[in-house]
Amino acid sequence: MPDESNNPVNRLVIIGSGPAGLTAALYAARANLAPLLIEGHEPGGQLTITTEVENYPGFEHGIHGPEMMDVFRRQAARFGTQFLAGAVTDADLAKYPFEIAVDGTMIMAEALIIATGASAKLLGIESEKRLMGYGVSACATCDGAFFKDKEVIVVGGGDTAMEEATFLTRFCSRVTIAHRRDTLRASKIMQERAQKHSKIEFIWNSEVAEIIGEPAAGVSGVSLRDVNTGELRHIRTDGVFMAIGHHPNTTLFHNQLDMDELGYLIVQPGSTYTNIEGVFAAGDVADRIYRQAVTAAGTGCMAALDAERWLEAREAGEV
Ligand code: NAP
Repeated sequence: MPDESNNPVNRLVIIGSGPAGLTAALYAARANLAPLLIEGHEPGGQLTITTEVENYPGFEHGIHGPEMMDVFRRQAARFGTQFLAGAVTDADLAKYPFEIAVDGTMIMAEALIIATGASAKLLGIESEKRLMGYGVSACATCDGAFFKDKEVIVVGGGDTAMEEATFLTRFCSRVTIAHRRDTLRASKIMQERAQKHSKIEFIWNSEVAEIIGEPAAGVSGVSLRDVNTGELRHIRTDGVFMAIGHHPNTTLFHNQLDMDELGYLIVQPGSTYTNIEGVFAAGDVADRIYRQAVTAAGTGCMAALDAERWLEAREAGEV
Protein backbone atom coordinates (compact mmCIF):
# COMPACT_ATOMS: atom_id res chain seq x y z
CA MET A 1 0.00 0.00 0.00
CA PRO A 2 1.53 3.37 -0.93
CA ASP A 3 1.89 5.74 2.02
CA GLU A 4 0.15 9.01 1.33
CA SER A 5 -0.91 9.82 4.85
CA ASN A 6 -1.52 13.47 3.97
CA ASN A 7 -4.31 12.52 1.57
CA PRO A 8 -7.71 13.84 2.59
CA VAL A 9 -10.22 11.25 3.76
CA ASN A 10 -13.16 10.97 1.35
CA ARG A 11 -16.55 10.53 2.93
CA LEU A 12 -17.59 8.08 0.24
CA VAL A 13 -15.58 6.25 -2.38
CA ILE A 14 -17.33 4.21 -5.07
CA ILE A 15 -15.39 1.61 -7.01
CA GLY A 16 -16.84 0.91 -10.45
CA SER A 17 -18.45 2.97 -13.21
CA GLY A 18 -21.23 0.74 -14.53
CA PRO A 19 -24.93 1.37 -13.82
CA ALA A 20 -24.51 0.42 -10.14
CA GLY A 21 -21.53 2.69 -9.45
CA LEU A 22 -22.90 5.64 -11.41
CA THR A 23 -26.35 5.41 -9.84
CA ALA A 24 -24.77 5.23 -6.38
CA ALA A 25 -22.73 8.32 -7.33
CA LEU A 26 -25.83 10.19 -8.52
CA TYR A 27 -27.69 9.56 -5.28
CA ALA A 28 -24.67 10.20 -3.07
CA ALA A 29 -23.80 13.42 -4.91
CA ARG A 30 -27.35 14.68 -4.53
CA ALA A 31 -27.07 13.89 -0.81
CA ASN A 32 -23.98 16.16 -0.64
CA LEU A 33 -21.59 13.30 0.11
CA ALA A 34 -19.17 14.50 -2.59
CA PRO A 35 -18.46 10.96 -3.75
CA LEU A 36 -15.22 9.99 -5.43
CA LEU A 37 -15.81 7.37 -8.11
CA ILE A 38 -12.92 5.19 -9.29
CA GLU A 39 -13.66 4.23 -12.87
CA GLY A 40 -11.72 0.98 -13.22
CA HIS A 41 -10.06 -0.48 -16.28
CA GLU A 42 -13.30 -0.63 -18.29
CA PRO A 43 -15.02 2.76 -17.73
CA GLY A 44 -18.77 2.38 -18.11
CA GLY A 45 -18.60 -1.33 -17.37
CA GLN A 46 -20.11 -4.18 -19.35
CA LEU A 47 -22.69 -1.99 -21.10
CA THR A 48 -19.91 -0.31 -23.04
CA ILE A 49 -19.30 -3.60 -24.83
CA THR A 50 -22.93 -4.28 -25.59
CA THR A 51 -25.03 -3.08 -28.50
CA GLU A 52 -28.63 -2.03 -28.24
CA VAL A 53 -30.20 -2.02 -24.77
CA GLU A 54 -33.91 -2.54 -25.27
CA ASN A 55 -34.99 -3.37 -21.75
CA TYR A 56 -33.93 -0.36 -19.72
CA PRO A 57 -37.14 1.41 -18.70
CA GLY A 58 -37.47 4.94 -19.98
CA PHE A 59 -35.77 4.28 -23.32
CA GLU A 60 -38.79 3.35 -25.39
CA HIS A 61 -36.83 2.87 -28.60
CA GLY A 62 -33.72 1.38 -27.00
CA ILE A 63 -30.33 2.99 -26.61
CA HIS A 64 -26.78 1.89 -27.29
CA GLY A 65 -24.94 0.70 -24.18
CA PRO A 66 -21.99 3.13 -24.44
CA GLU A 67 -24.34 6.07 -25.04
CA MET A 68 -26.45 5.05 -22.05
CA MET A 69 -23.39 4.99 -19.81
CA ASP A 70 -22.38 8.45 -21.06
CA VAL A 71 -25.78 9.74 -20.00
CA PHE A 72 -25.42 8.05 -16.56
CA ARG A 73 -21.95 9.58 -16.14
CA ARG A 74 -23.01 13.09 -17.10
CA GLN A 75 -25.97 12.89 -14.72
CA ALA A 76 -23.70 11.82 -11.83
CA ALA A 77 -21.16 14.54 -12.73
CA ARG A 78 -23.85 17.21 -12.79
CA PHE A 79 -24.33 16.90 -9.02
CA GLY A 80 -20.64 16.97 -8.16
CA THR A 81 -19.31 13.42 -8.41
CA GLN A 82 -15.53 13.43 -8.73
CA PHE A 83 -14.10 10.83 -11.12
CA LEU A 84 -10.73 9.17 -10.87
CA ALA A 85 -9.45 7.22 -13.88
CA GLY A 86 -7.58 4.03 -13.07
CA ALA A 87 -8.02 0.65 -11.50
CA VAL A 88 -7.86 -0.34 -7.85
CA THR A 89 -4.75 -2.43 -7.27
CA ASP A 90 -5.11 -3.03 -3.54
CA ALA A 91 -7.70 -2.53 -0.82
CA ASP A 92 -7.24 -2.75 2.93
CA LEU A 93 -10.61 -2.92 4.61
CA ALA A 94 -9.17 -3.90 8.00
CA LYS A 95 -7.90 -0.31 8.39
CA TYR A 96 -10.21 2.59 9.11
CA PRO A 97 -10.58 4.85 7.21
CA PHE A 98 -10.48 2.19 4.48
CA GLU A 99 -7.41 2.33 2.25
CA ILE A 100 -7.63 1.83 -1.48
CA ALA A 101 -4.65 1.95 -3.83
CA VAL A 102 -5.39 3.23 -7.32
CA ASP A 103 -2.45 2.74 -9.67
CA GLY A 104 -0.02 3.60 -6.88
CA THR A 105 -2.02 6.41 -5.25
CA MET A 106 -3.60 5.77 -1.88
CA ILE A 107 -7.20 6.87 -1.40
CA MET A 108 -8.92 6.87 1.99
CA ALA A 109 -12.62 6.46 2.57
CA GLU A 110 -15.01 6.65 5.50
CA ALA A 111 -17.51 4.59 3.53
CA LEU A 112 -17.03 2.44 0.47
CA ILE A 113 -19.39 1.16 -2.21
CA ILE A 114 -18.07 -1.74 -4.25
CA ALA A 115 -19.62 -1.88 -7.72
CA THR A 116 -16.85 -3.64 -9.60
CA GLY A 117 -19.22 -5.76 -11.67
CA ALA A 118 -18.35 -8.92 -13.49
CA SER A 119 -16.14 -9.90 -16.46
CA ALA A 120 -16.47 -12.31 -19.36
CA LYS A 121 -15.61 -15.94 -18.57
CA LEU A 122 -13.22 -17.83 -20.79
CA LEU A 123 -12.77 -21.54 -21.44
CA GLY A 124 -9.24 -21.60 -20.08
CA ILE A 125 -7.69 -23.63 -22.90
CA GLU A 126 -4.20 -22.82 -24.18
CA SER A 127 -5.23 -22.01 -27.77
CA GLU A 128 -7.88 -19.54 -26.56
CA LYS A 129 -5.25 -17.63 -24.60
CA ARG A 130 -2.71 -17.73 -27.44
CA LEU A 131 -5.22 -16.52 -30.06
CA MET A 132 -7.10 -13.95 -27.96
CA GLY A 133 -7.14 -10.82 -30.09
CA TYR A 134 -5.98 -12.82 -33.13
CA GLY A 135 -9.32 -14.30 -34.11
CA VAL A 136 -10.60 -15.12 -30.62
CA SER A 137 -12.70 -12.52 -28.82
CA ALA A 138 -15.07 -12.18 -25.87
CA CYS A 139 -16.78 -9.10 -27.24
CA ALA A 140 -18.70 -9.05 -30.51
CA THR A 141 -19.39 -5.35 -30.21
CA CYS A 142 -15.69 -4.61 -29.97
CA ASP A 143 -14.44 -7.00 -32.62
CA GLY A 144 -17.36 -7.96 -34.87
CA ALA A 145 -16.44 -5.47 -37.59
CA PHE A 146 -13.12 -7.27 -38.10
CA PHE A 147 -15.05 -10.28 -39.41
CA LYS A 148 -16.80 -8.73 -42.39
CA ASP A 149 -17.99 -11.49 -44.78
CA LYS A 150 -16.29 -14.13 -42.61
CA GLU A 151 -17.61 -17.18 -40.81
CA VAL A 152 -17.49 -17.23 -37.03
CA ILE A 153 -18.40 -19.50 -34.13
CA VAL A 154 -20.07 -18.24 -30.97
CA VAL A 155 -19.63 -20.44 -27.90
CA GLY A 156 -22.44 -20.54 -25.32
CA GLY A 157 -26.17 -21.06 -24.93
CA GLY A 158 -27.30 -18.09 -22.85
CA ASP A 159 -28.61 -14.64 -23.70
CA THR A 160 -25.10 -13.33 -24.27
CA ALA A 161 -24.44 -16.00 -26.92
CA MET A 162 -27.76 -15.27 -28.68
CA GLU A 163 -27.16 -11.53 -28.56
CA GLU A 164 -23.57 -11.78 -29.79
CA ALA A 165 -24.55 -14.18 -32.58
CA THR A 166 -27.41 -11.96 -33.73
CA PHE A 167 -25.18 -8.91 -33.67
CA LEU A 168 -22.44 -10.68 -35.63
CA THR A 169 -24.85 -11.39 -38.50
CA ARG A 170 -24.48 -7.69 -39.38
CA PHE A 171 -20.94 -8.40 -40.53
CA CYS A 172 -20.43 -12.11 -40.94
CA SER A 173 -21.56 -14.36 -43.76
CA ARG A 174 -22.34 -17.19 -41.33
CA VAL A 175 -22.56 -17.51 -37.53
CA THR A 176 -22.54 -20.90 -35.85
CA ILE A 177 -23.52 -21.19 -32.21
CA ALA A 178 -21.74 -24.11 -30.54
CA HIS A 179 -23.42 -25.13 -27.30
CA ARG A 180 -22.48 -27.88 -24.87
CA ARG A 181 -26.06 -29.09 -24.34
CA ASP A 182 -29.10 -29.63 -26.57
CA THR A 183 -31.22 -26.94 -24.95
CA LEU A 184 -30.53 -23.26 -24.60
CA ARG A 185 -30.42 -21.31 -21.37
CA ALA A 186 -31.30 -18.06 -23.16
CA SER A 187 -34.67 -16.31 -22.79
CA LYS A 188 -37.33 -17.39 -25.29
CA ILE A 189 -37.35 -14.10 -27.21
CA MET A 190 -33.56 -14.13 -27.71
CA GLN A 191 -33.60 -17.83 -28.67
CA GLU A 192 -36.28 -17.25 -31.25
CA ARG A 193 -34.49 -14.27 -32.72
CA ALA A 194 -31.34 -16.34 -33.21
CA GLN A 195 -33.14 -19.48 -34.38
CA LYS A 196 -35.13 -17.60 -37.00
CA HIS A 197 -32.09 -15.85 -38.44
CA SER A 198 -31.07 -17.20 -41.83
CA LYS A 199 -27.35 -16.67 -41.15
CA ILE A 200 -27.33 -18.47 -37.79
CA GLU A 201 -27.00 -22.21 -37.29
CA PHE A 202 -26.48 -24.34 -34.20
CA ILE A 203 -24.16 -27.18 -33.27
CA TRP A 204 -25.42 -29.00 -30.18
CA ASN A 205 -23.76 -31.07 -27.45
CA SER A 206 -20.35 -29.81 -28.38
CA GLU A 207 -17.53 -28.12 -26.54
CA VAL A 208 -14.41 -26.49 -27.90
CA ALA A 209 -11.42 -28.81 -27.50
CA GLU A 210 -9.01 -26.57 -29.38
CA ILE A 211 -8.95 -23.45 -31.51
CA ILE A 212 -6.74 -23.86 -34.53
CA GLY A 213 -4.61 -21.03 -35.84
CA GLU A 214 -1.55 -18.89 -35.32
CA PRO A 215 -1.38 -15.27 -34.15
CA ALA A 216 0.13 -14.14 -37.46
CA ALA A 217 -2.45 -15.84 -39.66
CA GLY A 218 -5.46 -15.78 -37.32
CA VAL A 219 -7.96 -18.55 -36.64
CA SER A 220 -8.65 -21.19 -39.29
CA GLY A 221 -10.87 -23.63 -37.41
CA VAL A 222 -11.96 -25.27 -34.19
CA SER A 223 -11.88 -28.78 -32.95
CA LEU A 224 -15.24 -29.56 -31.30
CA ARG A 225 -15.73 -32.48 -28.93
CA ASP A 226 -19.08 -34.24 -28.87
CA VAL A 227 -19.95 -34.33 -25.15
CA ASN A 228 -21.78 -37.67 -25.51
CA THR A 229 -19.36 -39.65 -27.67
CA GLY A 230 -16.10 -37.77 -27.11
CA GLU A 231 -15.64 -37.67 -30.86
CA LEU A 232 -13.66 -34.73 -32.24
CA ARG A 233 -14.87 -32.84 -35.27
CA HIS A 234 -13.06 -30.12 -37.20
CA ILE A 235 -15.04 -27.04 -38.24
CA ARG A 236 -13.60 -24.38 -40.47
CA THR A 237 -14.03 -20.87 -39.08
CA ASP A 238 -12.39 -17.44 -39.20
CA GLY A 239 -13.14 -16.41 -35.65
CA VAL A 240 -14.38 -17.59 -32.27
CA PHE A 241 -16.44 -15.49 -29.88
CA MET A 242 -16.65 -16.64 -26.27
CA ALA A 243 -20.06 -15.95 -24.75
CA ILE A 244 -20.18 -18.31 -21.77
CA GLY A 245 -21.07 -15.94 -18.97
CA HIS A 246 -19.25 -13.82 -16.47
CA HIS A 247 -17.44 -13.95 -13.16
CA PRO A 248 -17.53 -11.29 -10.43
CA ASN A 249 -14.58 -8.92 -10.04
CA THR A 250 -13.85 -9.60 -6.40
CA THR A 251 -10.25 -10.87 -6.31
CA LEU A 252 -9.15 -7.76 -4.38
CA PHE A 253 -11.52 -8.55 -1.56
CA HIS A 254 -10.70 -12.22 -0.97
CA ASN A 255 -10.25 -12.93 2.74
CA GLN A 256 -11.77 -9.54 3.55
CA LEU A 257 -15.38 -9.69 2.43
CA ASP A 258 -17.78 -12.63 2.61
CA MET A 259 -18.37 -14.24 -0.79
CA ASP A 260 -20.29 -17.21 -2.12
CA GLU A 261 -18.57 -20.16 -3.79
CA LEU A 262 -18.55 -18.34 -7.15
CA GLY A 263 -16.94 -15.23 -5.66
CA TYR A 264 -20.04 -13.02 -5.60
CA LEU A 265 -20.12 -10.68 -2.58
CA ILE A 266 -22.69 -11.56 0.04
CA VAL A 267 -24.90 -8.75 1.29
CA GLN A 268 -27.42 -8.79 4.10
CA PRO A 269 -30.80 -9.64 2.55
CA GLY A 270 -32.77 -6.59 1.48
CA SER A 271 -29.78 -4.29 1.82
CA THR A 272 -26.32 -3.63 0.41
CA TYR A 273 -24.47 -4.15 3.73
CA THR A 274 -21.46 -6.45 3.48
CA ASN A 275 -19.86 -8.15 6.51
CA ILE A 276 -17.68 -5.05 7.08
CA GLU A 277 -19.42 -2.00 8.55
CA GLY A 278 -19.20 0.92 6.16
CA VAL A 279 -18.59 -1.26 3.09
CA PHE A 280 -21.52 -1.72 0.74
CA ALA A 281 -21.88 -3.74 -2.47
CA ALA A 282 -24.06 -3.03 -5.50
CA GLY A 283 -24.66 -4.39 -8.96
CA ASP A 284 -23.41 -7.58 -10.59
CA VAL A 285 -20.59 -8.00 -8.09
CA ALA A 286 -23.21 -9.07 -5.55
CA ASP A 287 -25.83 -10.47 -7.90
CA ARG A 288 -25.49 -13.88 -9.48
CA ILE A 289 -29.16 -14.11 -10.36
CA TYR A 290 -30.56 -11.04 -12.08
CA ARG A 291 -27.50 -9.20 -13.47
CA GLN A 292 -29.43 -6.60 -15.39
CA ALA A 293 -28.57 -2.94 -15.89
CA VAL A 294 -31.80 -1.92 -14.18
CA THR A 295 -31.23 -4.14 -11.14
CA ALA A 296 -27.64 -2.90 -10.92
CA ALA A 297 -28.87 0.69 -10.98
CA GLY A 298 -31.47 -0.20 -8.34
CA THR A 299 -28.93 -1.68 -5.95
CA GLY A 300 -26.59 1.26 -6.67
CA CYS A 301 -29.33 3.54 -5.38
CA MET A 302 -29.78 1.30 -2.32
CA ALA A 303 -26.04 1.35 -1.61
CA ALA A 304 -25.92 5.16 -1.67
CA LEU A 305 -28.88 5.37 0.71
CA ASP A 306 -27.37 2.71 2.99
CA ALA A 307 -24.01 4.51 2.99
CA GLU A 308 -25.62 7.89 3.65
CA ARG A 309 -27.60 6.55 6.61
CA TRP A 310 -24.61 4.62 7.97
CA LEU A 311 -22.38 7.74 7.81
CA GLU A 312 -25.06 9.80 9.57
CA ALA A 313 -25.49 7.17 12.29
CA ARG A 314 -21.72 6.97 12.73
CA GLU A 315 -21.39 10.74 13.05
CA ALA A 316 -24.19 10.69 15.62
CA GLY A 317 -22.22 8.05 17.54
CA GLU A 318 -24.89 5.40 16.95
CA VAL A 319 -22.66 2.81 15.23
P1 NAP B 1 -25.42 -17.54 -18.70
O1 NAP B 1 -26.87 -17.30 -18.71
O2 NAP B 1 -24.76 -18.02 -17.46
O3 NAP B 1 -25.09 -18.55 -19.90
C1 NAP B 1 -23.79 -19.02 -20.11
C2 NAP B 1 -23.84 -20.05 -21.20
O4 NAP B 1 -22.51 -20.50 -21.49
C3 NAP B 1 -24.66 -21.28 -20.82
O5 NAP B 1 -25.41 -21.72 -21.91
C4 NAP B 1 -23.59 -22.28 -20.43
O6 NAP B 1 -23.94 -23.60 -20.72
C5 NAP B 1 -22.42 -21.89 -21.31
N1 NAP B 1 -21.15 -22.21 -20.66
C6 NAP B 1 -20.71 -21.81 -19.43
N2 NAP B 1 -19.47 -22.25 -19.19
C7 NAP B 1 -19.12 -22.96 -20.30
C8 NAP B 1 -17.96 -23.67 -20.66
N3 NAP B 1 -16.90 -23.74 -19.84
N4 NAP B 1 -17.94 -24.29 -21.86
C9 NAP B 1 -18.99 -24.21 -22.70
N5 NAP B 1 -20.12 -23.54 -22.42
C10 NAP B 1 -20.19 -22.92 -21.22
O7 NAP B 1 -24.62 -16.21 -19.08
P2 NAP B 1 -25.02 -15.04 -20.08
O8 NAP B 1 -25.53 -15.56 -21.35
O9 NAP B 1 -23.83 -14.16 -20.08
O10 NAP B 1 -26.21 -14.27 -19.33
C11 NAP B 1 -26.02 -13.82 -17.99
C12 NAP B 1 -27.22 -12.99 -17.54
O11 NAP B 1 -27.29 -11.77 -18.27
C13 NAP B 1 -28.54 -13.70 -17.76
O12 NAP B 1 -29.39 -13.39 -16.69
C14 NAP B 1 -29.05 -13.09 -19.04
O13 NAP B 1 -30.46 -13.14 -19.13
C15 NAP B 1 -28.53 -11.67 -18.94
N6 NAP B 1 -28.34 -11.10 -20.29
C16 NAP B 1 -29.37 -10.40 -20.84
C17 NAP B 1 -29.22 -9.85 -22.10
C18 NAP B 1 -30.35 -9.06 -22.69
O14 NAP B 1 -31.46 -9.18 -22.20
N7 NAP B 1 -30.13 -8.26 -23.70
C19 NAP B 1 -28.04 -10.04 -22.84
C20 NAP B 1 -27.02 -10.79 -22.25
C21 NAP B 1 -27.17 -11.31 -20.98
P3 NAP B 1 -25.11 -24.35 -19.90
O15 NAP B 1 -26.40 -23.77 -20.41
O16 NAP B 1 -24.90 -25.77 -20.26
O17 NAP B 1 -24.85 -24.06 -18.46
